[in-house]
Amino acid sequence: MYVSHLECSKCSAAYESEQVTQLCSCGGPLLVRYDLKRVKDAFRREALSSRPPTLWRYRELLPVREQEHVVSLGEGMTPLLPLERVGARVGIPRLLMKDEGLIPTGTFKARGAALAASRAKELGVTMSAMPTNGNAGGAWAAYCARAGIKAVIVMPKGAPAINRKEVAVAGAALYLVDGLISDAGKIIARAVAEYGWFDASTLKEPYRIEGKKTMGLELAEQLGWQVPDVILYPTGGGVGIIGIYKALRELQEIGWIGDKLPRLVAVQATGCAPIVRAWSERKGESEFWEGAHTVAFGITVPKALGDFLVLEAVYATNGCGVAVTDDEILRAQQMLAGAEGVFVCPEGAATLAAAVHLAREGWITAKEQVVLLNTGTGLKYPETVSVDAPVLQPGDSLPRV
Ligand SMILES: *Cc1c(COP(=O)(O)O)cnc(C)c1O
Ligand SMILES: [Zn+2]
Repeated sequence: MYVSHLECSKCSAAYESEQVTQLCSCGGPLLVRYDLKRVKDAFRREALSSRPPTLWRYRELLPVREQEHVVSLGEGMTPLLPLERVGARVGIPRLLMKDEGLIPTGTFKARGAALAASRAKELGVTMSAMPTNGNAGGAWAAYCARAGIKAVIVMPKGAPAINRKEVAVAGAALYLVDGLISDAGKIIARAVAEYGWFDASTLKEPYRIEGKKTMGLELAEQLGWQVPDVILYPTGGGVGIIGIYKALRELQEIGWIGDKLPRLVAVQATGCAPIVRAWSERKGESEFWEGAHTVAFGITVPKALGDFLVLEAVYATNGCGVAVTDDEILRAQQMLAGAEGVFVCPEGAATLAAAVHLAREGWITAKEQVVLLNTGTGLKYPETVSVDAPVLQPGDSLPRV
């Protein structure tokens, strides 16, 4: 294990990593730091070829001390699909999609949950709580069940119905709030303060980022240790984009990739775009988005604790922020299913809608290699597709189509 310490992302204070730590005393999220010199000496790219195709293949860059504490459902190494037909249509011939729809629980939240649950187990946590927009709660409930950790989950009443069911079936205690994820967060914060539970909220523990980081590691490996020109990411709390950026910086430090970094694009919905607004005003932090609403429920985060880290990743890579409408999202979802056979979640579809804008503006050129991050399967959002199917009687004939 190569973790050296936990470091505050705001004030750089250092914390010892072998006890349960949530936020820094200054309120900043903690990041896991590794002794990358030792990793560089000990970890060879060639070693990967004999390891199983899960995110645990990068164990030297992950924080779990003992193999026996790994809580896994087989997550990781999702496909990187060429989107030739859609790419040709939108003027980005080298368009790819990393498809997190094929991961346990159906969204990339499994990655964060796998790492956070493993570390919580390793550090002796038995009781946890999490506010969620749905998918993180579903994944947390599943991995907690596997880890033997109790979980209390609070989610908005408006979250997709499937999210309630996956939490309930995994035996977690579920509460619905008549409000947004920010309201769920306040309720959890009060319970955590009163009962001393482990707080698994986004960025209030350091390990979910380490799980999401593996998307960046996989992407680099899948591209032969090259990085693409652009990565588009549907941004809610921002853990994924922060994690991908962290992964690429760590790969640079151990010498596995060169100086080039992809331009990171934070994609949001026009109904909730605090980070895009902050980016367009060149600010370092976002402001609470009033009246947040979008069909892409997983990115309905009116104010992210790690907004400054997302913006830092976007600025440092010459990336940008793009907001797209629900209409554009649903059309992109149909295009991906109809032209490529992939039924993506609306959050993932938002990245295609954003890529279309950027290609039109010339911000993305036809030479560039562009990766869309589809964060989950469309199967979790059946209500986003309406079907008009005529009912036949057994004796009816089909019209010629
Ligand atoms: C949570 C979620 C997101 C946003 O992820 P962050 O890393 O918190 O920005 C995007 N898509 C889906 C499907 C999600 O569940
Ligand atoms: Zn601090």
